[in-house]
Amino acid sequence: MSQDLQALLVSYAYVGACVLVGEVAARRGVSREFSRKLIHVSVGLWVFGALALFEHRELAVVPSLTAAVANWVIHRKRLLKAVETEPDNLGTVWFALSFSVCLWVAWDQPSVAAGSLLAMVVGDALASLVGRRFGRHRYETLSGERKSLEGSLAMLAGTFLAVLAVLTWMPGLSPDMPRVSLAVLCAVVATCAEALGIRGRDNLWVPLSALAVLAWTPTAYATGLGMGAGVALLIGVAAWLRGSLSPSGVLGAIVVGAPVFGLAGTVGVAALLGFFFSSSALSKAFRERKAGVEAEYAKTGTRDLGQALANGGVAALAAVLLALTGDSRYLLAMLGALVAANADTWATELGVLSRSPPRLITTLRPVAPGTSGAVSGVGLLASTAGAAFVGILALLAGLSWKLLPWLVLAGVVGSLVDSFLGATVQDVRWCEPCARETERRIHRCGQPTRALRGLSWLGNDTVNGVATAAGALLAFWA
Ligand SMILES: [Zn+2]
Repeated sequence: MSQDLQALLVSYAYVGACVLVGEVAARRGVSREFSRKLIHVSVGLWVFGALALFEHRELAVVPSLTAAVANWVIHRKRLLKAVETEPDNLGTVWFALSFSVCLWVAWDQPSVAAGSLLAMVVGDALASLVGRRFGRHRYETLSGERKSLEGSLAMLAGTFLAVLAVLTWMPGLSPDMPRVSLAVLCAVVATCAEALGIRGRDNLWVPLSALAVLAWTPTAYATGLGMGAGVALLIGVAAWLRGSLSPSGVLGAIVVGAPVFGLAGTVGVAALLGFFFSSSALSKAFRERKAGVEAEYAKTGTRDLGQALANGGVAALAAVLLALTGDSRYLLAMLGALVAANADTWATELGVLSRSPPRLITTLRPVAPGTSGAVSGVGLLASTAGAAFVGILALLAGLSWKLLPWLVLAGVVGSLVDSFLGATVQDVRWCEPCARETERRIHRCGQPTRALRGLSWLGNDTVNGVATAAGALLAFWA
């Protein structure tokens, strides 16, 4: 116990010294941002001191818990200009709370406690310093903060190296846990948490998400998920820079890509890559002939988080279920979802090239190209080819050829379900100035559109999700 008491005194002295240095630096003219980072990093590194000096976790969390209370009081009174920059920012309170949680939860796994806090300390400092200095590719977080790709990539690299270092040199993980993959997964997840940017809560979500990854990733899935997340991130960022994905779409690519690439073997890799690259390429192809028509569809062009989840969410879920249950029917369900997504995308991108007007799937009356629920011979051919394309890639990756007809059927049916819902219950809107039907809430002319028919909450993304689920169910029972 006397050792814990000594450790308590050392803790308060150390943290007090860190705050004092930061405060003096701020009063000597160093920027508040910099002095804040200085305190942030030096206090965060105390995790090593806490792990080394304390005997009991009950006392090890006392300094950070008192710091949380003190910071809340400071926040109320705004005593230290070095610590607080914005009146509504509770970041220091979240910082101290996260410190306590990581220390408490991972007390018996020092490398996990240190790794999750380093993700916050090192990652955040690098993201902000590099972003300020070199940030050119900007994006907005959920709360509207401006961040940069350069800053986020710096955080990714810094978190990866820091986490890998503690996982390698500190105890706490089972010897058969793959360190590099786990560090990649942790860095990708922590960077995504930071990029989401729920204002002032980075200090909460970054360390807690890192803690969850480090403490609870099953050993058997660490390699797959880590490599899957890394590859999905690379592809997603490249697609953003080429204009196929929005910044939120990169997050969608990771959420879908990590489980499908990582948990469903070569079949998952081949099918998802086939879907992703063929749909991106088709969406860029035939630009001129599609001009005008494509703008009425919500689903072409630059894809965002909602579209990524609508097209790939069911497949990702099936990949997770495959890993959890080991039931190979979930592999087929995942493929069914992907062939349906690909069939529908090919039908949408190529169907607009049809020379004769398409017909509504319910009444078969001719309608203008681009109308929701319209089908054409070219579109049906394209959806069959799209399903077969992904199906054949899956065969080449090792799936039995007997399953190909089922997959093509699942894809075409999924695509027809999409058209049927589009013609009946999907939210279809009307732009008054242009006198045109559209799926967009804000028309390409910049005017808000009004509801024309369908259910206002049933947008294109939901319809896409239902269509991929139909493909998944059909393939599951194949
Ligand atoms: Zn318009």
